[in-house]
Amino acid sequence: MAPTYLSNDRAAVDSFLDKFDVFLIDCDGVLWSGDHVYDGIPETIAMLRAKGKRTVFVTNNSTKSREEYLKKLSKLNIPADAEDIFGSAYSSAVYISRILKLPQGKNKVFILGEKGIESELDAENVPHIGGTDPNFKRDITDADFKGLADGSLLDPEVGVVLAGLDYHFNYLKVAHGLHYLKRGAKFLATNTDSTLPMHHDFFLGAGSVMAPLVNASGQKPLELGKPSQAMMDAVEGKFQLNRQRTCMIGDRLNTDIKFGVDGKLGGTLHVLTGVDNKAAWEKEDAIAVPSFYADTLSDLRIAE
Ligand code: PLP
Ligand code: CA
Repeated sequence: MAPTYLSNDRAAVDSFLDKFDVFLIDCDGVLWSGDHVYDGIPETIAMLRAKGKRTVFVTNNSTKSREEYLKKLSKLNIPADAEDIFGSAYSSAVYISRILKLPQGKNKVFILGEKGIESELDAENVPHIGGTDPNFKRDITDADFKGLADGSLLDPEVGVVLAGLDYHFNYLKVAHGLHYLKRGAKFLATNTDSTLPMHHDFFLGAGSVMAPLVNASGQKPLELGKPSQAMMDAVEGKFQLNRQRTCMIGDRLNTDIKFGVDGKLGGTLHVLTGVDNKAAWEKEDAIAVPSFYADTLSDLRIAE
């Protein structure tokens, strides 16, 4: 069915709002672009809350912890508390500590990623190596090749390789990841977005950065960000969602809208302020079709 267009249609927005109690809201491309908050967004979030709606911010950005997201939201005039935020670094940490439950002696995580992942693993008391460790910020040497091949450079306690966007990825780190996978470590990804939107352009996303490891190992990671249903299950567990009364709002079809459709939520709203435009779901082989769309999230303010 064709999505319902909400912009400038008070009756359509009223009926949309009546359908849902909880809004899962993607961040980049919906609330802001980089450090620029879109017009009317703080007021829109305040309006939803004033109508008794629960707003949960769900982001695939693993480079920031929930604590850092909180600071960003507050700087952009969107008050929130840590309970309102669900990031892919957090969902990965929770998956590792509460679902994988690795045995002692095999419970360390080798990280290809940034501080956000380290902080969330710390909060769940999961030991980790790699990540932002300065010892990995160098060229690989012959001694490294040898030590990786004979295993003497590898930590025997590593049971998981967790990959996210890593701004410092290099041969040495990827080679470590590869050798942990070869020795049986589980392969997890915070998210696999192919691109990273920035400055009205796009760069390499987490999926592109981890591609060499996928290619060399011949393994695909278990994804823990949108659109994976592991993340939906974690969100559902934490917020006790009634899926029928929940709506996912996002700018990207292959992460956000697919996340909501696959999760059988009551609805999905595609906003046109970010990565994808209408053409993405108008084409025949669209990866997912939203149930609603609007030019911007602020268009919901017509219901104020
Ligand atoms: N990953 C990184 C590292 C990012 O910086 C971003 C956006 O800023 C994303 C993923 C996509 O985030 P979101 O799911 O909020 O659109
Ligand atoms: Ca987005």
